[in-house]
Amino acid sequence: MISKNNSNQVILRVENVHKSFNGNEVLKGISFNVNKGETKVIIGPSGTGKSTLLMCINRLVEVDSGKIYLENKDITSAKNVHKIRQEIGFVFQHFNLFEHLNVLDNVKLGLIKVKKINKDEATDIALKELERVGLKNKIELYPAQLSGGQKQRVAIARALAMNPKLMLFDEPTSALDPELIGEVLGVMIELAKSGMTMLCVTHELGFARAVADEIIFMEGGVIVEQGSPLEMFNNPKKERTKEFLNKLT
Ligand code: ADP
Ligand code: MG
Repeated sequence: MISKNNSNQVILRVENVHKSFNGNEVLKGISFNVNKGETKVIIGPSGTGKSTLLMCINRLVEVDSGKIYLENKDITSAKNVHKIRQEIGFVFQHFNLFEHLNVLDNVKLGLIKVKKINKDEATDIALKELERVGLKNKIELYPAQLSGGQKQRVAIARALAMNPKLMLFDEPTSALDPELIGEVLGVMIELAKSGMTMLCVTHELGFARAVADEIIFMEGGVIVEQGSPLEMFNNPKKERTKEFLNKLT
């Protein structure tokens, strides 16, 4: 863990969230907080509800019961879903870039269409974020001309350009060739160190070790155990946590 002077200001509060699909309960009462400036990492086997949880947070999926608060505002019932998605950046496993737009326009689009920022200002913001992810020299290229790692860095820049209060990452490196993972993790580590509030589903334990304030181990729709990387790696309390982490390393 790194020292970032985390405040105790709660950015995200998830309270007893339940979600079923066709009678199959995928989230069985999930509760946790993320404070301002913290990075929390969620790990757990496939099919455990990790993606569903992230999608509930930015309202791509509606919860059945429970509450989710962003800076004390109940966003589970808020009408303006677009506003919530501006405030919460989402980086997916499969990039989701606009193939017909170049790198610069991919990052500018939300600024112009959603935030109604003028084109020149949008260009300035986009260039700043593309510089941050190391892609300022690729702005004219189209997604098809980029490596997976570069595409994911564009997706991160696009999310950051909206100036979110919270960034969600759903296995951002799991679709990448091994040699491209490091460049994306490097950007995420810098972002965490800069004080961004982040909730990341990832099995990159090196990343977790470097910047996570807490690791949450989920299985079967519940949080089995959560703790600092030191506690979770060196002294997990639950046998299941130990088994899962042993398989990953
Ligand atoms: P994880 O991200 O941990 O692998 P998911 O949240 O993707 O898990 O999925 C958890 C479970 O919910 C899986 O059994 C999956 O098939 C199911 N599920 C997810 N989304 C839907 C959906 N839209 N409709 C029906 N079942 C779904
Ligand atoms: Mg998933």
